[in-house]
Amino acid sequence: MSLDIGTKSTIHQLGTTRSALDALSVDDATVLTLPLPELMEGAAALRDALFGTRVTYSPKVFIPLTSLCRDGCGYCTFSRSPARAEAPYLTPDQVLAIAARGAQAGCHEALFTLGEEPEDRYDVAAQWLADHGYSSTVEYLAAMCRLVTAETGLLAHSNAGALAPDALSLLRTVSPGQGMMIESLNPTLMAHRGAPDKTPERRLATLEAAGELAIPFTTGILVGIGESPQDRVTALRAIADLHRRYGHIQEVIVQNFMPKPDTVMRNEPACPQDEFLRTIAMARLILPSDVHLQAPPNLSEDFGPLLDAGIDDFGGVSPVTVDHVNPERPWPALDRLREVTERHGKFLAPRLTVYPEFARRPEQWIDPGLRFAIMDRSDAESLGRDDPGAMFPESHADAKNVGTGAEVVQIGRRSTVWSSGSEFAPTDLVPSRRRGFGGPVRGVLDGIASGQEPGVDEIVTLFGARGGEVAEVAEFADHLRSRAVGDDVTFVRNRNINYTNVCTFKCTFCGFSKGPLSLNLRGKPYLLTLQEVAGRVREAWDLGCTEVCLQGGIHPSFDGDYYIDVCRAAKEAAPDIHVHGFTALEVTEGAKRLGEPLEKYLQRLVDAGLKSLPGTAAEILDDDVRAILCPDKIDTEEWLECHRVAHSMGLTSNVTMMFGSVEEPVHWARHFLRTRELQRETGGFTEFVGLPFVHMAAPIYLKRGARRGPTWREVVLVHAIARIVYDGLIDNVQASWVKLGLDGVRQLLQAGVNDVGGTLMDENISRAAGAAHGQQLDERDLDAVVQGIGRRLRRRTTNYLTPPTHQLDLHGAPTHSPEVILR
Ligand code: SF4
Repeated sequence: MSLDIGTKSTIHQLGTTRSALDALSVDDATVLTLPLPELMEGAAALRDALFGTRVTYSPKVFIPLTSLCRDGCGYCTFSRSPARAEAPYLTPDQVLAIAARGAQAGCHEALFTLGEEPEDRYDVAAQWLADHGYSSTVEYLAAMCRLVTAETGLLAHSNAGALAPDALSLLRTVSPGQGMMIESLNPTLMAHRGAPDKTPERRLATLEAAGELAIPFTTGILVGIGESPQDRVTALRAIADLHRRYGHIQEVIVQNFMPKPDTVMRNEPACPQDEFLRTIAMARLILPSDVHLQAPPNLSEDFGPLLDAGIDDFGGVSPVTVDHVNPERPWPALDRLREVTERHGKFLAPRLTVYPEFARRPEQWIDPGLRFAIMDRSDAESLGRDDPGAMFPESHADAKNVGTGAEVVQIGRRSTVWSSGSEFAPTDLVPSRRRGFGGPVRGVLDGIASGQEPGVDEIVTLFGARGGEVAEVAEFADHLRSRAVGDDVTFVRNRNINYTNVCTFKCTFCGFSKGPLSLNLRGKPYLLTLQEVAGRVREAWDLGCTEVCLQGGIHPSFDGDYYIDVCRAAKEAAPDIHVHGFTALEVTEGAKRLGEPLEKYLQRLVDAGLKSLPGTAAEILDDDVRAILCPDKIDTEEWLECHRVAHSMGLTSNVTMMFGSVEEPVHWARHFLRTRELQRETGGFTEFVGLPFVHMAAPIYLKRGARRGPTWREVVLVHAIARIVYDGLIDNVQASWVKLGLDGVRQLLQAGVNDVGGTLMDENISRAAGAAHGQQLDERDLDAVVQGIGRRLRRRTTNYLTPPTHQLDLHGAPTHSPEVILR
């Protein structure tokens, strides 16, 4: 449909359906003549419909590989003659030093800026390249991109100008994204006289070749270099047409001309603000809906109006280096960028050099050699990880045997960002005074507050929360927690007994089992005898535990009777202890190996003393994800069926979700909804337990196939959104202190969590995956955390009952009276 005056209301009528927004068409006369306020209003409304409250930026470091160039554009201060340049090229050491500073400051991207083919014009450049073993600038650039990613983990973005297909193709193997401004397609501009690479034919040919080679590409136009408004429309339409053919334009930059001293155009007027804003707005309305729109914040005194005109990206912002193309214009500090963005009702999110639309389809867009480097810096939305700090590629040495588990020894430079299981404290997100300002997240929360039940779309929207929206979701969840279970924080004194670490299954995330994927990083295989199991149960009881949690690998020698024998041994050792044991996989496998129906087998386990099932082996209840994480394990329906049958027999269980490896928010949403449905049917789940993926020693990470676990923002959101989704159905949301540490637990207790699980003597599974936190929680430490936020710590039993009052002191001698109901 074509777009008329009244643009904003037209967009609102269309809603946010991508295909409807894509079908919008706007004619030249409209974008050239519509009053500017109306045009900007329409563009901003379209941007809001496409991207909600999110505005991205790329934390990057600039590496000016060479300032020599064979072109001579009238506005350029970047290019220099050899006489004015210190050296023709930066050396590899200089390149690495800049990149390392960037990685240290939390950048994700190394933007290589350089002139076009200087070796063609300057002998000194050709000689330097020959002396260093390179035949061209592009070849040297490719080597430096490769070096930077290998040494610092930064993702390269190369800006080498108009290139032939073979050069683009070479760079595709080392630089996930590439860029080249088309600037203008007017061939008569004075600004481009003496610039053989700036002809429309060469620019368009480069863009087209990039499309054919499936390169995620950045391009853009320069506004105010002598071109007419119609020229701008023509250039934007040409970009749009190429994108419709190849789908490869990830963003378009609209950049305003500013005269610079010592350039041919030093006396020309700067691009008027109104023309600049009009061009941004027309770009949003002309470009396809999946092309992002960027304007640099450092080229405007007040960059807030850029948001009003419809941009959704600020481009590269460097905490380390100046803008080498506009060195006189410093980058705004990140805090200022955030403040201005939030004043406009938007939230900043860091992105990578490739946008999520491309990172999520690596087979099509990313060279195989770069896929892990991208994944390693990604969050679940394929945006840049947003925990501040230095991030470097991880290097591992041999395992150090720690008895029944194992630790992988990390060597070399260490990252300082928080990840689950690491020793670093997470950044403080909760509580926070920052708030959202409307937009999709607020809309979903308002809908839920008025009684709507969130479905997949709403849950995914909540997972997109950024900035103050995260605090809003957490606060909403905290309110629901208080309404559902009050202010007490509960824990159970328990012991884990992992009776064997030998397993025939091939879960790719499992750092615990001794299977073919264990990369020889684990300790020795073991299998506890029944006497040893009984001894550990007795010891746990004597130490005041009310629960033993029995889980282990699936040993090839087990038949289903093994689990029954273990249950019986535990029960005989301590008749009143609660036996919480056996994952849905163990139960299903046990029944299968005996050829017994699930119900009959579970009844035998109950008769032997089993009281409840842990919800582990759920990982992510989505078969596409399970095909990657646990291809030979029970599928989603089998996991649900095992719990359905268990609940029907009076056994309770819980829902766990391991998150942060390969899946996306939509998979979390499906996991929540499938378990919510079962809970509605059976009522047998006592709690939700979030299990952040611990990457350090997980085979799938070591084999370069997963992310580094969730970001802290994602951890907060998973727990808060679980509270929201299960409200009225599952009362308890538990945080795993083993993976999060007490600092993390403190925040989650203010984001919907009311339980910290077990004190877990002998927790081995998370440690085997590399978690740094201890094997046993000191209850006094936990008490201090809980009191610090004005809450009360209380012991519970497995089923959220409480021991009698004389058992409630944290460290008194235990008595073993029967459970009594607390509430
Ligand atoms: S997660 Fe469990 S089933 Fe999978 S390999 Fe590890 S021990 Fe075996």
